[in-house]
Amino acid sequence: MNQLPPNDPAGQRFAALWAEVSSVGRDRRRGGYSRHGFDDADRQLREWFTEQAGRRGLDVETDGNGNLWAWWGTPAWARNADAATALPAVVTGSHLDSVPGGGAFDGPLGVVSALLAVDELRLRRLRPARPLGIACFVEEEGGRFGLPCLGSRLLTGAVSPDAARRLQDRDGVSAADAAAAAGMDPLRWGRDEARLAGIGSFVELHVEQGRLLHSADPDAAVGVADGIVAHGRWRLTFTGEGNHAGTTVVADRRDPMIPAAATVLAARRLLADRPSAVATVGRLQVNPGGSNVIASSVDLWLDVRYGATGDTTALVDEITLLARQEADLEGCQVLERRESLSDDVVFDPGLSAVAAEQLSAPVVPTGAGHDAGILAAEIPSAMLFVRNPSGISHAPGEFAETADCLAGVQALADVLAGLIR
Ligand SMILES: [Zn+2]
Repeated sequence: MNQLPPNDPAGQRFAALWAEVSSVGRDRRRGGYSRHGFDDADRQLREWFTEQAGRRGLDVETDGNGNLWAWWGTPAWARNADAATALPAVVTGSHLDSVPGGGAFDGPLGVVSALLAVDELRLRRLRPARPLGIACFVEEEGGRFGLPCLGSRLLTGAVSPDAARRLQDRDGVSAADAAAAAGMDPLRWGRDEARLAGIGSFVELHVEQGRLLHSADPDAAVGVADGIVAHGRWRLTFTGEGNHAGTTVVADRRDPMIPAAATVLAARRLLADRPSAVATVGRLQVNPGGSNVIASSVDLWLDVRYGATGDTTALVDEITLLARQEADLEGCQVLERRESLSDDVVFDPGLSAVAAEQLSAPVVPTGAGHDAGILAAEIPSAMLFVRNPSGISHAPGEFAETADCLAGVQALADVLAGLIR
């Protein structure tokens, strides 16, 4: 593991920025952080980003979809220049939101590293020949409205603005109302043609969310991602009959918890002959949720990630078939709804190969979704991963050594230096 001298100046710059971010959005109940689209922690971090970008003389703007952008140089669409002849912009960045009770690094590390990479490029006395932007995408985790990568999906048109406006959080607040309450205009949501045409490449730095980098090279602090496996979220609603837990004999029960529980176990069992597949039930909603009450319905959220899109949906089909059989046995019904599905992504091979060679970094795949995965459909995109010693992510134990984070800043600056020429 890299060790830093205690008064290393780059380490101190990183620590100062990191301390500011780390104070926002702590979740006292779950541990870790809960920062969600358009909430108070999100607003505070957006203000923090705006201030930090301003200190660096970057021009900050909010696009029609609520994503924040900070610019070194003016992009073509803001100059009314012809995107066909102007040099396309280079963009880095990530997101500021978290899953409920998430770790500190997922998202903010990419934003902090982007700000420090700009500092590093200036220390190297580089002047970009084309605009360099830092983006903070809205609600990447889908922690509030259920749809991951909301901001980048709106930007690219991967979700329709109408469907996005109708999304609701757990309290029934629509995404449109939440955005409006945060001072944005949800009627401006939608694909941003001029912006997409004006961006030539996107590079997202992210904490690794597993330990594949360690397996590829135990000495590597930074790796390059080659792609993202297909992944999606499904909601299964099991409906039975609410009744008394003490007076209802087993023969008379229609308990939706039974097929729900069987589905959780079936999802695990079906992974046995698919070593690279994962299926997770991390959220259940039991109605009415009394300890002496047989539930009337159970909502179960299933997250599946496996190979190409067809592999993922075939696995989900098998799980839901078993769910239906188990529901039948208990006299219950099950309704399946897909909440999201992201196709497998291959990052731009040219960009990734150049980065891997430039950094002498190993190339690894990932099972996690990212804004870069959405943008990759429109813009040549690449990702850098910073080593995560435990591999824990989406949980308070998520971690990266400061020395590795600094190696990430240098790597990002190296890649950006090559792209802004
Ligand atoms: Zn992330």
